[in-house]
Amino acid sequence: MRLTVLGRSPASPNPGEACAGYLVEGEGSRVLVDIGPGVVAQLVEHHHPDDLDAIVVSHMHADHMLDLVTLRYVYPWRLRPKEQRLRVVLPPGSADQMLDLAKGVGSARHFEDCFRLSEHDGAAPIAAGRITLTPVETQHYIPCWGFRVEADGRRLAYTADTAPCPGLSDLADSADLLLSEATLRSLDEDAVPPEPRGHLLPAEAGAAARDGGALRLMLTHLPVNGNGSWASDAASDEFGGDVELAEPGRAYEV
Ligand SMILES: [Zn+2]
Ligand SMILES: [Zn+2]
Repeated sequence: MRLTVLGRSPASPNPGEACAGYLVEGEGSRVLVDIGPGVVAQLVEHHHPDDLDAIVVSHMHADHMLDLVTLRYVYPWRLRPKEQRLRVVLPPGSADQMLDLAKGVGSARHFEDCFRLSEHDGAAPIAAGRITLTPVETQHYIPCWGFRVEADGRRLAYTADTAPCPGLSDLADSADLLLSEATLRSLDEDAVPPEPRGHLLPAEAGAAARDGGALRLMLTHLPVNGNGSWASDAASDEFGGDVELAEPGRAYEV
């Protein structure tokens, strides 16, 4: 299985980088997980979107889904035959939000005429060609699901956005590669108590990977301007081994 990082920025973009977007390929299939601002420009450097078996979205924050608007413009401005429409799998309960977004950018049919929209149910595995993605609910400011992504007998676990929570532990459990958010530079950047938290410190990503027995840990969705060793060093101290930083444009064998 191969992971290509199309974007690793948190909501506030790192200079020159896209927000969340990860291309996963395995067993002849291809899925894009998350499609934040800037991701489509990176995707079309390598592939036409029709080369994808599906796009799967973790949650409805803009930094994970807003480039669906942009993606529409890759296609001619007319109705596509249903069987040709690109499959887009959204989180449960997102249909109204997509409709509002479509109206906001000019047409209630902005997405439907071009994409096959559906929602996952928060638990059942999603088949994108021969790649299987199992949603695992995380703790975030809005409903959010990470994914266990399986192909070629390998397991990539993507945390999406999360605070420390049981879902994070499930994702880390025996992952060949844990692709973990590490958005916080300090706890002051998270929600103010008693509001529940929604993101991780790099050290918390390291602890989750260690406790779950993940073989490799890669940090993403973090502020980096030049050197990201502040994050990988802190995560490594907890993990007890080398920690990689997701590098935009790079492909990794899982
Ligand atoms: Zn979010
Ligand atoms: Zn995010």
